[in-house]
Amino acid sequence: MARLRLPALLYPDASELVEDMTSPDVLVLGGGMAGLCAAIEAREAGARVLLVEESPAWRRGGNARHARNMREPHEEPTPFSPRTYPRAELVEDLYRISAGLGDPDLIETVARHAHGLSDWLIARGVALQFPEEGVLPHSRKTVFFLGGGTAMIRALYREAERLGVRILFEAEARTVDLNGRTEVLHAGRVLNIRPGATVVCSGGYQANRKWLQESWGRAAHHLVLRGTKYAMGGPLRDLLDQGVASSGEPGFGHLVAVDARSPKWDGGIVTRVEGVQYGIAVTASGRRFFDEGKDVASTRYGTWGRMALETSGQLAWAIMDARAAAHFPSPVYPPIEAPTLEELAPVIHMDPQVLAGEVREYNSILGAEPDGRRRRLEPPRTRPAPYVVKPPFRAVPFRPGITFTCYGLKVDSRARVMRLDGYPCETVFAAGMIMAPGVLGRGYVSGAALMVAAVFGRIAGRNAARLRGHGLLLPGTRS
Ligand SMILES: Cc1cc2nc3c(=O)[nH]c(=O)nc-3n(C[C@H](O)[C@H](O)[C@H](O)COP(=O)(O)OP(=O)(O)OC[C@H]3O[C@@H](n4cnc5c(N)ncnc54)[C@H](O)[C@@H]3O)c2cc1C
Repeated sequence: MARLRLPALLYPDASELVEDMTSPDVLVLGGGMAGLCAAIEAREAGARVLLVEESPAWRRGGNARHARNMREPHEEPTPFSPRTYPRAELVEDLYRISAGLGDPDLIETVARHAHGLSDWLIARGVALQFPEEGVLPHSRKTVFFLGGGTAMIRALYREAERLGVRILFEAEARTVDLNGRTEVLHAGRVLNIRPGATVVCSGGYQANRKWLQESWGRAAHHLVLRGTKYAMGGPLRDLLDQGVASSGEPGFGHLVAVDARSPKWDGGIVTRVEGVQYGIAVTASGRRFFDEGKDVASTRYGTWGRMALETSGQLAWAIMDARAAAHFPSPVYPPIEAPTLEELAPVIHMDPQVLAGEVREYNSILGAEPDGRRRRLEPPRTRPAPYVVKPPFRAVPFRPGITFTCYGLKVDSRARVMRLDGYPCETVFAAGMIMAPGVLGRGYVSGAALMVAAVFGRIAGRNAARLRGHGLLLPGTRS
């Protein structure tokens, strides 16, 4: 039996430890929002739970570390969310965004169980933001975490540890079979874990460039990963290869425009690019390529992320003049600045004649120039459209940043993973982004990811715990 070196505090008794490690009642793969909710629910139901997480402890929590808010329906105003957001409206929202790809059973399940999520989290130590005390937007449809997603994740890990969930960090689930038997690589050794039930919560595959390349070609290498670098999709791929049914569509992901100078991964929310609509957007060769005023709503980050994906080299620039800065807060990376467009262009590797000419043409057609010509802008520009005239001129480079992929496992309303033959895997459950495409399709609205992760994490954990000692072995699966 492999000997494990683990923190004494979490694992007080060695013999108990070995048993919990090799044959827990419930094995949870992935320690993000979905995995934590699953582990806590299963433990509260009396199961011996092992949670396996690939990241080191200091980087734990998956993408929830970067999150701010969670969607939650409520029929009455709550201290954390004004007015009402009836369940029926949530159902409508989910049908609209999933555009026919959301499974009606799963949508109804989310809507039914999302009510009361805040209370569940608060009872486990998570603090929420009172709207009147914070700097965050007043939201009827979502609640905000006090201290952000990192504080929320810390509270849930604290609770899981307090309850006695065994947690193994720096442990990668390598293979998972249809009975949930899993090979985990930890400290250079392979552990064979034979749980009563398994909950797969390892997220999407947005960090896996090779896989993304299958749909997006070379563009996949120019995407900025907004969150965890551990989202390689190993368990997802392994289960799909064994004949598990899928949900969502390969080749789609949630994109937003992020500063091209962002870190390759884990840049989080602060790297989003703001203010494109206050100037013009050009390709790396200095040409306008999209109507900057077309989307000025909260969906604009996504619109610019998708547009940046379409550009050559997946690199675009927001060009603004001195007045634009007054419209939005200081960005995390300072814009590149110069007194004239001709001086700005070489700094950002553009032809000065092309950039200055493009801006001159734009201003001229808008009517700012004395010649007063009125020609059609191509691409058109929805008004009001600001002129780009007042020095100094500023440039911000942006690329598509990927938040999560929209292709995953199909589950039923009990969170059981479905096989291609239409039967569920009785002992394998999935929760979070690995099955969320079955609810959200290719769409997204703020706070929906955490809502789905929490709802299905809890359902999966509870149902997995019920199987204690009754694990079924499916015929014909890998031994
Ligand atoms: C910048 C940013 C901001 C966001 N803001 C919001 C927001 O405000 N509201 C909202 O609802 N959503 C938001 N999201 C999305 C949301 O955070 C995620 O969709 C959600 O946290 C997914 O949770 P999950 O547990 O399913 O997956 P993940 O968070 O991806 O967690 C999966 C975990 O599994 C681990 N793992 C992966 N593979 C393995 C393996 N083979 N073995 C062991 N462990 C493995 C990973 O290390 C990770 O910890 C945001 C995402 C980002 C990137």
